[in-house]
Amino acid sequence: MNTQVLTNLDFALNYVSEWGWAVMPLHSIGSDAKCTCGKVDCPSPGKHPLTKNGSLDASKDFAQIEAWFKQWPEANIGIATGPGSGIVVLDVDMAKGAHSSSLIFGDVDLTIFTTPKVKTGAGLHFYYKYPAGIDIKNSASRLGPFIDVRGDGGYVVAPPSIHASGKRYEFQNSHSELAEFPKDWIDKLQAQAPPPVSTTANGASNGTGPVAAAGPASFVVPPPPPGVVMPDAISQGSRNQTLTSVAGRLRHGGLSEGAIYAALNIENQRVCTPPLGDDEIRHIAFSVGRYAPQTPIDPAADPLDPNAPPDHENTLRPYLFRDFMAQVFEEKEILGFHIGKRDIAIIQAATNAGKTTLLRNIGMCMAAGRPFEPFYEGMRPVKIAYFDFENDAQDVQRDLGQMFTVFTPGEVRELEENYIVIPKGLMGGELFQFNTHEKWANELIEKNGVEFIIVDNVSAAYDLNDENSNAEVTKKVIKPLLKMAYTGNCAFLFAHHYGKKKNELEHAGVHAGRGASALQALSRTVINMFGDVSKGEPVTVECAKRKTDGGQNYTRVFKLEADRWFHATHYVQAEKLTAYKTIRRHMVTVQYPETVTKADLITLFEAEFKEDAIKKAVDELFKDGFLEKPSHGQYCGAKPKAAAVPGDMPPARNYVDTDEKED
Ligand SMILES: [Zn+2]
Repeated sequence: MNTQVLTNLDFALNYVSEWGWAVMPLHSIGSDAKCTCGKVDCPSPGKHPLTKNGSLDASKDFAQIEAWFKQWPEANIGIATGPGSGIVVLDVDMAKGAHSSSLIFGDVDLTIFTTPKVKTGAGLHFYYKYPAGIDIKNSASRLGPFIDVRGDGGYVVAPPSIHASGKRYEFQNSHSELAEFPKDWIDKLQAQAPPPVSTTANGASNGTGPVAAAGPASFVVPPPPPGVVMPDAISQGSRNQTLTSVAGRLRHGGLSEGAIYAALNIENQRVCTPPLGDDEIRHIAFSVGRYAPQTPIDPAADPLDPNAPPDHENTLRPYLFRDFMAQVFEEKEILGFHIGKRDIAIIQAATNAGKTTLLRNIGMCMAAGRPFEPFYEGMRPVKIAYFDFENDAQDVQRDLGQMFTVFTPGEVRELEENYIVIPKGLMGGELFQFNTHEKWANELIEKNGVEFIIVDNVSAAYDLNDENSNAEVTKKVIKPLLKMAYTGNCAFLFAHHYGKKKNELEHAGVHAGRGASALQALSRTVINMFGDVSKGEPVTVECAKRKTDGGQNYTRVFKLEADRWFHATHYVQAEKLTAYKTIRRHMVTVQYPETVTKADLITLFEAEFKEDAIKKAVDELFKDGFLEKPSHGQYCGAKPKAAAVPGDMPPARNYVDTDEKED
C-alpha cells in the first residue's frame, strides 16, 4: 500500500484557504529526473512556470487552481511573494555557502528563525510577513552572501514540489506564526547600491564599521593560509577561491569590507579570465568583512571561503552562542540501519543467528535502492563497501549469487555500480585488517565515494589481544574507527559476536554483546539477533538502541528462506497499540465516499479490543477531528488537509503503514 493522501491540488488549495497565498503551477521533475519542459539543458529545472505570464498568473481562485492541477496533477507549486500574498521569503542557499548567521545584525533578534520555513533542495526558505506600506523587491545577496529575497513580483517553489535533486520541498516548524520582516533588513535592502559596501573611516580604521558590525566582530576566525599572493592570471575554476583567499588576507591586515570590495574589483578585472560578476565580488567582500581583523590562531583552515568544498578533515569550528543558535545545520540524512554519515551501528548475534546473511541482504538492498524494512526504506541507492574479514571470495560470491536473483534490471544496474565487495585476503603478506591497513581502507572509501561501510566482523577486522578490554578496544578500535568515519564522511555498520549463551542474552538490551561495553556505547544503533537458522528457527531481531533518527525501538521476527533472504514473519510490538491508535491508523485508509459503521469496526477489531473500548475510541477520534461523519452512523477518515498543510507534510512514504504489514 502506498497511499498519497494529499495531492498537489490539495496543497495548492490549502495555501489559498489557510494562508491567503496566491499560487501557480510550475514545471516539475519527471521520473527521468529531468525538467518536465523537456529541454535537455533547462536552466531552471522544476522551477519555471507552466503558464504564460509566470507569477502574474498566480491566483487565489479555486476554480482556476483546480483547472490547472487537473490539467497538470504533478505540477510543482509556486507561491507568489509580495503584497498580494502578504509574504516575503528569504532564500538561503546553503549549498553555495550561505550562512543564516549573516542575517543577524542591528536589532535583529533570533525569533526571525522561528518563522515557518521550507527545506529546499539546496537550503532553506524563510517566510515572513510582508511589511505594510513598503516596497520589497526581489534581490540577490543583499542581506548576506547567497541569501536572496523574494518580494514583489517574485515567487517561491513550495512543498510538496520536487527539487531537481529529487528531494521534495518540505515545511519545518510551519505551526509557527509568520515572523515580522525586521526593520534592519528593510533598511539594508533600501540602502543605495552597491549594498553591502561601506568605506567609512570608522570601518577602515578598526573594522567595526556598519557592515563589519553585522558580523561577530569580537569573534576571531583564523585567516587563510599565509603565502597567498595575487597571481598574474586566474582562470575559471579557481577565481572565487583565489580572490577569497586574497580578501581574507586583506581583512586580516585590517581593511574594511568596502576597501576589500574596491581592491577585489580592480584585481578581478585585471587578472580573472573571464572576470567574476559584481555580485560574486560583493559576496566575497561581505563574507570576509564579517570577521574581526585579528591574529591567526591556526592557519590550517579557511572557513571564509563560501565556495570551498566540504573539508571532512577540518570540521571543527568554534561558534559564538548567537551564531551557533542562528546557524542552520543540515539535517542528517538517514542512510540505513537508522544511522547517517559519521555514525556507527552494531549488530550483535551468537553463531548461527544468520547475521552475515542479514548483512548481505541489507547491504545489497541499500546499494540497489530496494527497500528492506525496517532497516532501509529505499530512499535512494547508497554506495556500500562490504568488508568480509571471515570469508573467502568464492564463498561470498556463491552466497551473493543466490541472493542476486530477486533484483529487477533497474536495481541490478544500481547494485553493479554501488556495491564494493572486499573479501578476506592478504596484504603485504599480512592478513588484511583495519588496524594495520587503515590508510588503504581510507583511500578506498574516499576514492570511491563510499557512504556506508559494512564490516563482518569486529574481532576479525581488528587485531585485539583482549576484546573484553575497554582500554584496548577504545585505543585500537574506537579512536581509529571514529577517525575513519569522520575523514571518509561515511557510516559504519559492524557485526559483532556474542559470547554469552542464548538465555543470558534475552533482555540484555544494548549490553548483550560480548566484549567491551565501549563499543556498544559508541554505537548510535544497537541491534541484537536471537535464534538459530541452522535449526530452521525464526530469528528475532531486536533494536535495543536507536539514537540518530529519533525512532522507537522495535522487535521483529524473520525467517531465513531457501532463497537466502530473510522474510519478515510477524511483527512483535514493543508496546501494544490502543484501540484509539489502531482505529486511527485504519481509518486513514477509509476515505469518503467509502464509510464504515461502529459495528463494522467492532467486527474488524473484536479480537484485539472490547466492544466498549472500540465505541469509545470512535467517539474520541470523531471529537478529535480524525474521523468525519458524512451521514448518520457512517464514519470515514478525516481528510488530513487542514492539520497537515502546511505543517507536517511528510512525503507520501510516511503514510505507508508498515507497522501493520504482515508477510
Ligand atoms: Zn524546464
